[in-house]
This record gives sequence, C-alpha cells and structure tokens, in this order.
Amino acid sequence: MATKPLDRLMFTQGGLCFFCKKPLSESEASVEHLVASANGGNNHHDNCVVCCEALNSLFGSMSLKEKIQVILNQRGQFVCPGSSGPSKSASRASRSLSEKLELIIADLHKRGAARPRTVKTLASTISALFQKHLPGAEVSSLVEELRARGVVIIDGAKVTYALPPKVA
Ligand SMILES: [Zn+2]
Repeated sequence: MATKPLDRLMFTQGGLCFFCKKPLSESEASVEHLVASANGGNNHHDNCVVCCEALNSLFGSMSLKEKIQVILNQRGQFVCPGSSGPSKSASRASRSLSEKLELIIADLHKRGAARPRTVKTLASTISALFQKHLPGAEVSSLVEELRARGVVIIDGAKVTYALPPKVA
C-alpha cells in the first residue's frame, strides 16, 4: 500500500481528479489543500484531495468560499482549466458552457495584447471563434458569464481583462 500522500489520495480517488473526474497522469496530479496551507490548512487526509495541476494552481491560496464559488460557477459539469473535457470531437457550438468559456479564455490568451477592447468586438470575436454558429443571445450571455467570473471587466463599452493563469 502506497504511503506518500499523493499516492494514497490517488488510490482513494481511483486515480481520478477530485473535481473533474478525469483520469490523472502522474505528471498532472497534484495535492490540493482544500483549506490552503497559507490560510492555516493542515496536511491531513481530510483536508487534501488530488486534482489536476492546472486547477490547483488556479485555486492558489483562495479561500474555501472562493473555491466553492469557482466550482458552482461550472454548473454541474466541472472541467478543470486546460482540460478539453470529454467531447473533444463535438462541434464547438454544441459544447458545454464551461468548455466554451475555456475556449474563449484560451483564445484571449493567444491574442496577447491584440485582445478586443470593446464589448462589440469581443462579441464578434466570440462569434467568429464558434464559426458564427451561436445565436446572438448566447454570445451575449457568454460575455456576461465572463464578466460575472471576473475574467473580463466591462466599463461602459470598453473591455479589460483579468484572465486566469495560462495553462500549457
Ligand atoms: Zn481535473
């Protein structure tokens, strides 16, 4: 029986990420402290889960409350950042909300300094990303969702960004 905390957690979780249930390879598995060490969390089994490295780094030293918020924001189908989720082959327009947001955020990362600067160009960028298959209302709700998550900051017609950390 494995004794390292990571190995023990991998065993008890059946080798799956605690949050997205994706099978974890050794290189992407990391121990997440639910109450972060920086916030006084301990190393006991009850405070630790093994999950995708990308999510662990996104969580950083967020409070448990903030983490729960991130989890609830995914609305039932949790996808860790950087993971393409189960329906890789599905057309982009039929992906889940979280997958769409992930695609948009990845696209925004790629654009670097050339990100859209207005709500209007952001909406048309999103529309183009989905080959214009999304109804206008859905594009607006994706923009709203990005705003609600704090990824984009909308000030009148202008847009600035606070993208989550980039995942390789
Ligand atoms: Zn995961």
